[in-house]
Order: sequence, then C-alpha cells, then structure tokens
Amino acid sequence: MNTNQRQPPSTPKDAAAVILLRQNTDPQNPEVFLVRRSEKLAFLGGFSAFPGGQLDASDAEVEVKNSTDVVASAAISCAARELFEELGVLVACGAESLTKGQRVSLLDDLESGRMSWPGLLQHYNLFLDANDFTFVGRWVTPPFSARRFDTWFFLARCPPKQEPKVIQGELASGEWIAAGRAHEQWQRSEILAVPPTLHALKTLGEGVTPDLVQRFLAIPQAFQIPVRRIEFRPNFICFPVRTPTKPPATHTNCYLIYNSRELLVIDPGSPYEEEQQALAAAIDDLVGEGRSVREIILTHMHPDHVAGVNALRAHLVDPVTVAAHRLTAEPLGAAVGEDAIRVDRNIEDGDLIKIEGTPEIQLKAVHTPGHTRGHLCFYEERTGTLISGDNVLGLGSVLIDPPEGNMRDYLNSLQRMRKLEGLSVIFGGHGPAVANAYGKIDEYITHRLERERQILEAVQEGSATAKDIVARVYTDVSPKAHAMAERAVLAHLEKLEDERQVFHEDNRWHAR
Ligand SMILES: [Zn+2]
Repeated sequence: MNTNQRQPPSTPKDAAAVILLRQNTDPQNPEVFLVRRSEKLAFLGGFSAFPGGQLDASDAEVEVKNSTDVVASAAISCAARELFEELGVLVACGAESLTKGQRVSLLDDLESGRMSWPGLLQHYNLFLDANDFTFVGRWVTPPFSARRFDTWFFLARCPPKQEPKVIQGELASGEWIAAGRAHEQWQRSEILAVPPTLHALKTLGEGVTPDLVQRFLAIPQAFQIPVRRIEFRPNFICFPVRTPTKPPATHTNCYLIYNSRELLVIDPGSPYEEEQQALAAAIDDLVGEGRSVREIILTHMHPDHVAGVNALRAHLVDPVTVAAHRLTAEPLGAAVGEDAIRVDRNIEDGDLIKIEGTPEIQLKAVHTPGHTRGHLCFYEERTGTLISGDNVLGLGSVLIDPPEGNMRDYLNSLQRMRKLEGLSVIFGGHGPAVANAYGKIDEYITHRLERERQILEAVQEGSATAKDIVARVYTDVSPKAHAMAERAVLAHLEKLEDERQVFHEDNRWHAR
C-alpha cells in the first residue's frame, strides 16, 4: 500500500482469558482446556486459544471476595463470565451445590438476557473469589492489528463435577490436552497460536511447580509490553514495523525466516529510524546466536515494504544481497537519489530459495501480479505456509490501482494461490496471520467478482464515469475513501474492457 496518511494504532480494549486446569491433573504434565476459534472469526479465526473475551460494563458491578483492586476484580468477573458463557464452567463459590441442569438453565438466563451476570450471581447466592483466579500476566495485542486487547490471563482449576463443553458459535471445538503436548503440536506446525497462548503452554509444560506463577511473569510481555517478535509458526517470525501505510493498517509485517544456520529477511519496510533500529536489533540477536543473513527479499515495490532496505543493508556488517522480481527491481533501481534501491538478484516465478540449516526451509517464489506487476508470494510446501505480500491481508483491503495494478492479473493470481496444495496459513503484508487460507482467498475472489457484477450493472444502467459508479456501488464505503474506490472501479472497468463487455468513448464508459 502506498499513501501518506498517518493514523495512530487503535487503543486496546480490556479483556480476560482463563487457562483452565483439569481437576486432579498430573502436576508434572498438566492438562489444560484448549479451544479452537471458529474459522469464520475475522480476528484469529482457526487459532488455538484459551476461552475469554472482552470486558462487559456490568462485569465491574460484581463484588469479588479477597480482591482489593477494583480493576482486577472486574477482570476476574469478566474471566469467570466468559468461561461460563463459552464452556459452561462456573467457577464461583456456591456453584458446587447446583445441579448440572441448574447450571444449564442459569446459562440460558444469562445468554437470553433474562438476567445480567451480576444479577444472576446475586440471585443464586453465588460469589466470586479472587483466590480461585491466579493472575499470570497481562498481554497487549501488538499495534499491527486493528482489533487490540489488553488481556488479563488467569489460571483456574476446573471445579469437581463440571466438564467444559464448547457452547457457542465463536469456538469450533475444545479439548483437554497436556500443555506440553499442545506446545509440541505448535512446534510441528500443526496448530497456530498467539504468543501469550504459546507462553502459557510452554510454561505449564514444564510442570505445576512452586515457582509456576513466577515463570509465567518472568518476561516483560506479561506486563503489557507488546510482543515484537510474533512466532505464529516456528521459524517464521512476524515482525511488524510502523510504516506510512494504508489505513486501517499502521504497520507492515516484516518476516524473519530462520533456522539453525541462516536467516532470510522479507520486506523491511519502515522508513522510521527507531523502527529500523528495532528490526536491526532483532536481526542482530538472531545473528548473535550463530546465523548469517542469507538475503533480503522483497514481495513488491511499494514504499511501505521496501523503505528500510538501505538502512538494514548499511547496518549489517557482512554484505547482503537484495532479491526481487525484475519488475520490482527495475522501478526500485530507477528511483532518484536516496530512494533508489539496488536489487542484486532477480527472482523468477518458480525459483526456489533455500535456507541452509535445520530444519531445512525452502520457499518457492510465485509470481502473482495484480497489486503490482512484479508482486511475488513465497510458499513453503513442508508446512503449507504462504507469505502473501499485499495480495491477501490479515487487515484492510487490497488496493488495485492502474496502471501498476491490474484486476485481471490480480484475480488470476488469487486463483493461482488458491491452487497451491496444503495451505495451512497465510502470512500477509499487514495484520495477523490467517489460518483459514482457502476460505480467505475464496472470500477475496467472491468479493471482487461481486463488485465487478455491480459495476457492469451500473454501466448497463447508464453510469458512465468511475465517479458515478462509485457513488452508486460503493454505498458501504466512507466518502473519504471514494478517490481510492475510483481507482478500483477503473481497474474493474479495464478488465471488463479487455473482456469486451464494456468500451470507453469520449471519456464515458458504455456497455456492449
Ligand atoms: Zn503494496
């Protein structure tokens, strides 16, 4: 993306999550209740996680025994409510005397809105106790996501005679699993999880020991310092850097792909010195552990993906090559003065980029023009990981701006991406990782074809300029974005012109 608009990252919303420990679990190999978020969710759909959610205003009205801090009390109340709503487990004093049937009807009272959470607790003489909820950290979503949470994590034991059961649409499934085993599943690239989930699984995997809470809280991220290195999948670090990009995005994802010996850098895109330094420090750490930087590779030519290349190159002690598609290399090399970026090696469609070491990682370059002419995606077959550049995003919409942008090419590229086998995750240029890869690509294709249909219809019914068409078709888009929408409409019209469905005469579009 490429605009000069700046906007601050969104403010995190208060939330709470519960790491539920199985009753009488083996302290050396404890089991937790891990849920899988529905693939339909826009935020982290398909990820493994712990039950939890956003604070309700009424959560603060609940009195919590043994808690003196009103903010912590509200978080505990939220955690208990979410646990009850999502899994039917009620961690409250007095709940032990309720039958299963009574709990079900209580949940129904809450879900149907017949009773508020504070009202329900009071009515049934139940109360929450802070001693049942052990605080194990407060994690803030990094600013690369438009949806951000300041999440309190609590450890709680599942009460006797209660069995968690995934209830509503937000979650697809859930299971008791040894924390260590779940962490191994992540290491084998079988599940996706965000850093606080992984930290919890790893920490619990080392056993329920007297210093358990201390180990949970041993890192700064457990105290609201947003994570910078996000490893949704082992060996693939997502390192968002702040860039002047297209809202709602405020950051561009740089990817650091590493193994025992080498490190590959994709899209160091920030023009800001402090962001460049943060990235350089992360790379220095990986190099300090004995790796060398294999190469810097670029998905495409937009400034928010390449603006940090020269600074990174200057920072690295050993010379490093920069590689990109020829149609990216040419415009970057031709730029004036400091903006020029020398690309040393051209990457062609189908080229393999091997990262030497363990595990062996091999990326296949896929030329996917449309957003720009020289756009490349990188596909790692072993784990089904696709680095999608700006073709598919975890946040915001993809701009197709002619003449560099081409809708026909873009749709063909999406089809090509759709045909890659075994896709399990998409790492886009902006926003969180996307777990439902095929679903997301299908959604993109459907959305574009639907727009195209509306645009053709508008032309058939007499709308003759891009401006007219935007006013008629983009009723769901704010007028501020209309200039950009006109570019997208033009891209659709050019595609329809190629397909001989419309033609352009005297500055007006007509249907055939
Ligand atoms: Zn772009």
